[in-house]
Amino acid sequence: MKVLKFGGTSVGSPQRMKDVCSLILQDGQQKLVVLSAMSGTTNSLVEIAQYLKGGNKPGADDVINRLRAKYFAHVPELYAKESNRKVILDFLEEKFTYLQSFSKEGFTEKQEKAILAQGELISTRMVTCYLQELGIKAALLPALDFMKTDADGEPDMNFIREGAAKALDAAPGMQIYITQGFICRNAEGDIDNLQRGGSDYTASILGAAIKADEIQIWTDIDGMHNNDPRIVDKTSPVRHLHFEEAAELAYFGAKILHPTCIQPAKAANIPVRLLNTMQPDAPGTLIDNRSELNRITAVAAKENITAIKIKSSRMLLAHGFLKKVFEVFETYRTSIDMICTSEVGVSMSIDNTRNLDEIVRELKKYGTVTVDSGMCIICVVGDMDWENLGFESRALDALADIPVRMISYGGSNYNISFLIREDDKKKALQRLSDVLFNGRN
Ligand code: ASP
Ligand code: MG
Repeated sequence: MKVLKFGGTSVGSPQRMKDVCSLILQDGQQKLVVLSAMSGTTNSLVEIAQYLKGGNKPGADDVINRLRAKYFAHVPELYAKESNRKVILDFLEEKFTYLQSFSKEGFTEKQEKAILAQGELISTRMVTCYLQELGIKAALLPALDFMKTDADGEPDMNFIREGAAKALDAAPGMQIYITQGFICRNAEGDIDNLQRGGSDYTASILGAAIKADEIQIWTDIDGMHNNDPRIVDKTSPVRHLHFEEAAELAYFGAKILHPTCIQPAKAANIPVRLLNTMQPDAPGTLIDNRSELNRITAVAAKENITAIKIKSSRMLLAHGFLKKVFEVFETYRTSIDMICTSEVGVSMSIDNTRNLDEIVRELKKYGTVTVDSGMCIICVVGDMDWENLGFESRALDALADIPVRMISYGGSNYNISFLIREDDKKKALQRLSDVLFNGRN
């Protein structure tokens, strides 16, 4: 069985829901479908919780009422049968009464999580009922029965495996199984979630749990390209990525997968396919454990990077120097992305400058500190095994006219990263595209 995930925009209106249904019914095969909340809904639920937290009940009610009106208007558009309209109107009534029932008094995090879960609970119920109206054998599997995180907030794979199998067994012979993305229970059994954008993660975890043939992530963006099509001309689609390449690119916001979602699929060796709801017949991008040798796959960039350099003669021949430096970042809960060292200095890049002043103050105890902001990481992924000849030099050649602040190579077999000025980003991406993909020098 395949697991298919559709995000908020793919189920963002009654028409979109209908389109998703015809798409999943096309090949007549049995599938497990993970859905997000209708687009904008989770944001509204966050807003409601914020108002309640701030003691502003009228503010919360205002958002609830607007959301309520929107959902009620969807009902006659989605269902032709009066009986289904009634069932879903009653269901929505119950949901919105529930949302309205929270008061500003003693509002807790538990309640906040319960509020955030409503978007997926609603969208999945609406879509299941629509499929049933079409005469399809469809069952709604309640994710809160089997999606669970452990005390460390990690997915409890044993529980999920057993729970998902049980839920599937309880509804035998269905063509379509629908379940909620994003939501789960935590170790205490309370309603929780897998963080914003977590529906991809649900699909990946469930795909691994039920040993799916494939996990498909459907979005309405125009597939994965080898460079940013908004910036560079002549990009082309990427048809295949290794999981590690996808993981490198995900950090760069290369609109592929939510970064967390790669791990479960990779560990269970289940291929992930990224597909486009606007072009359902296009092949999309396949991500799996196969490496393709001798090629550079894609280029991506991330802005708002700050580089920090510490130069210290004390570093020369000393041990424990890096540990002290890293401890400073650990203390201020700031993760380091790139790192380059020499015998007398070390440069690091960070994307979170919340505690930059404190970090710099602490680091000054160990040497001379320089900070460069407005930087950008350019990441080139592909077959970057160190024994391959020529790949890193081609990337370097492409950037010959651009000042490069740091280079990181050898951290994985799939990546080389450059830190440059944000102002040079466009030029760098275009040069890399020309040289690496379009055969120019
Ligand atoms: N509905 C959740 C969100 O908007 C989860 C998801 O869409 O993946 O973050
Ligand atoms: Mg989403």
